[in-house]
Amino acid sequence: MADRDPDCIFCAIVAGEAPAEIVDSDERTVTLMDINPATKGHALVIPRRHSEDLLAIDDDDLAACAIAARRVVRRMEEALDPDGFNLLNAARVAAWQTVFHFHIHVIPRYEDDPLKLPWIPRGADMDEISAIAATIREGQ
Ligand code: 5GP
Ligand code: ZN
Repeated sequence: MADRDPDCIFCAIVAGEAPAEIVDSDERTVTLMDINPATKGHALVIPRRHSEDLLAIDDDDLAACAIAARRVVRRMEEALDPDGFNLLNAARVAAWQTVFHFHIHVIPRYEDDPLKLPWIPRGADMDEISAIAATIREGQ
């Protein structure tokens, strides 16, 4: 994959060809404010190099994004005084990905914000969990 996808909005932002509120950057990453924030301060950490998703991004860019996310969390802690944080990545359509340039959502949380846990915790028997664990281990 080339460093840039000509049809990608996040690549255009990295190139300075589309507008964005950038709050942090380094040689591998850019962090910008989400245009449709889930809470006050919602930001997106993206790699400068185009990668479609979590499966495609290389280890060094992924590590740089994780470190940038924590740097931004620390800055938000000072600037916004939130009550907590969620980091979220959506990989593929079934998991809610809508922009196909890897990104980590950094979502400051507030006790009175409207977000809800996106799944209903459900019980499963230990045999089922063990069988799935074995399948995942075999995939290594
Ligand atoms: P996804 O659904 O892929 O996990 O997240 C994509 C995010 O990108 C969404 O939260 C959406 O609001 C944000 N987004 C989409 N287009 C733009 C844009 O042009 N600029 C900015 N700043 N955010 C965008
Ligand atoms: Zn891109």
